[in-house]
Amino acid sequence: MSLTLESPLNTVPDLPSRLVKVLEKEGLTKVAEVIAWLPFRHEERTQDASISFQVSEVPVCHQVLVTKTGTKFFGGRGGMFEAQVEPLSGAAMGQLLTLRWWSMPFMSRVIAEGHRLIVYGKIKEFKGKLSMDHPEYEILDEEGTTTIHSGRITPVYRLKAGVTQKTLRTATWHVVHALADDFITDILPPPSEAGEFAGWGRARALKAVHFAASMEDLEKARRYLALEEFYGYQLRVVRRRRAVIDSGGHAHVAGPLARDFQSALPFEMTGAQKRSLEEIQRDMASNAPMNRLLHGDVGSGKTVVAFAAMLGAVESGKQAALMAPTQILAEQHFNTARKWLEPLGLNVALRTGTRAEEGGVELLNGKMSDKNQILIGTHALLHDADLVRNLGLVVIDEQHKFGVAQRAKLIQKGNTPDVLVMTATPIPRTLTLTIYGDLDVSTIDERPKLRGKIITKARPLTKQADAAKFLTERLEEGRQAYLVYPLIEESEKLDVTAAKKGYEQWCKLLSHFSVGLLHGKLSADEKDLVMRDFRAGKLDVLVSTTVIEVGVDVPNATVMYVHHAERYGLAQLHQLRGRIGRGEHTSYCVLFVADKDEEAKSRLAILEETDDGFRISEEDLKRRGPGDVLGKAQSGQAPLKFAELLADTRLVRLARQLAEKTLDEDPQLRAPRLAELRPLIFKEDTPQAMMQ
Ligand code: ADP
Ligand code: MG
Repeated sequence: MSLTLESPLNTVPDLPSRLVKVLEKEGLTKVAEVIAWLPFRHEERTQDASISFQVSEVPVCHQVLVTKTGTKFFGGRGGMFEAQVEPLSGAAMGQLLTLRWWSMPFMSRVIAEGHRLIVYGKIKEFKGKLSMDHPEYEILDEEGTTTIHSGRITPVYRLKAGVTQKTLRTATWHVVHALADDFITDILPPPSEAGEFAGWGRARALKAVHFAASMEDLEKARRYLALEEFYGYQLRVVRRRRAVIDSGGHAHVAGPLARDFQSALPFEMTGAQKRSLEEIQRDMASNAPMNRLLHGDVGSGKTVVAFAAMLGAVESGKQAALMAPTQILAEQHFNTARKWLEPLGLNVALRTGTRAEEGGVELLNGKMSDKNQILIGTHALLHDADLVRNLGLVVIDEQHKFGVAQRAKLIQKGNTPDVLVMTATPIPRTLTLTIYGDLDVSTIDERPKLRGKIITKARPLTKQADAAKFLTERLEEGRQAYLVYPLIEESEKLDVTAAKKGYEQWCKLLSHFSVGLLHGKLSADEKDLVMRDFRAGKLDVLVSTTVIEVGVDVPNATVMYVHHAERYGLAQLHQLRGRIGRGEHTSYCVLFVADKDEEAKSRLAILEETDDGFRISEEDLKRRGPGDVLGKAQSGQAPLKFAELLADTRLVRLARQLAEKTLDEDPQLRAPRLAELRPLIFKEDTPQAMMQ
């Protein structure tokens, strides 16, 4: 056996050249490519000779001898080929079963009396006779020993056009049996004798993930390969983290200003807010640069914590910047900052994209300069290096809306500033350890008290008249409402059309109230005006596209209607819903779905049940996979093939330990086993990688 992963398929012993051609047509030319085509499930096609034929709802596997064959014809419908078989050995010999292939008379040329077969399928009974329709079968060779497709735990692959299950399985079988272990280098350090993976290595795992001797081995192989993937990930994040620490930061110690700020607030911070702030301030006071994630559900009050932290930088004579993903949000933060921070004598400035296009950085609050202690903006902040000469802290709000690269870019602007990233997509622990593995984590797991609760219902679209009546009552009580129109296909244009139509409808239905319209095609100033009017209560109702999704805070708004709710992910709906329930009044969220869409109703049920963002995002993860839920957070990282992200927390921790140890012993990762991984791990340090 001298086959390596690089060997061409036409050198694989026993692999018929006919199959090699089929595979080559599909672009598979070497061993590694066959190995990388992973089965998506396995079937337990092992048979037990002592078991007799029995009616079975699930497919079963038997070794049989063909005793009689024949083809039956029923006028016009093609022939049915039948093969009568009995068990090949064991206690049940002599018992009969009929294999049937409907409309496949040509099977008579494939299967003949005296053949020994392995068959796999469901057994039915009709008038005392047992039959199996269209079984998967394999004709045993003379000795009846090697079987590829059955009589074992059998891999099942997702197919591309042109390659059949049997072709692929046959290729994998021969590849796995000819592949020399010696040429496959372990990436993981050797497993400990006493540990879960004793006796395992990359070669064994790569083979067993296709053909395993037992279900336990299969599971072990998958876990081994998942650990390998996590290890690569963790080497990267641990190294990035160490690089940041080594880059040397500055101590930013919070003083009286931060305390004054807290006592001037119109509310008392929750325990979770205080704890998070302490964690942040402790990091900031140390000489090493902070690199921390603050996450908490929508409405948990991250903004105050961020402002309090920013004061720590200001008190050390530095600037602090807050970057938000949208203009509306940046302006809202700016307004809050003016309200809370200007009375403390601070100079607050705003920088957003559109204003720059209009020629400069003229701001609501005078010219921006390094006199501004607090800078707030969108990613337009990234373009003004001269604004941020003296940056002590960078806060990035709604981190999942930005890429890793943008984050890196803003950090580069300062002189190793402290960094706080915030996200309102609650993230299960395994994922924070992986995706945000280079960050320390603070969690706000408590919401401010005295909040009105949110009642959520999914309703058919036909109930709009009732909805208008209910809405009118709330508006008469002085409350405000959001009416959201969603993504229609992937086009923002259509989105806007839907919102405009909705706007006209609602204007008629709510003729006694003032209704505003907000969408992405308005100019920044127009958006600004609408938002300001809504915030000031001049508008009772805001018809909007999802531009209001993130962060908007108007406590008097207590009603939200979401049209075509079936088009959103659960986490996104939860975010939207977070716009209400921010004041003392009870809030109402109605999710309108197409009348007959039962699937959507059942999916949305969890939103009716709970407003715990962590539960909702776990549910979303299960349904849609991590890529979708995390959006850009994961971009730039290889997708995980083996890792079941939800279940493998223990593996992630193990991978972390291994990575820490590897980097302690070998900081430059010079070990030969890491040769392939090394460039990937160091890659992102180049300026090019950061600019992507
Ligand atoms: P998010 O975590 O979603 O960004 P915000 O920071 O926008 O939440 O806070 C939501 C609202 O709750 C704001 O109006 C804020 O002023 C208010 N808030 C924050 N903390 C408290 C608290 N401890 N008690 C009462 N209200 C609070
Ligand atoms: Mg927020």
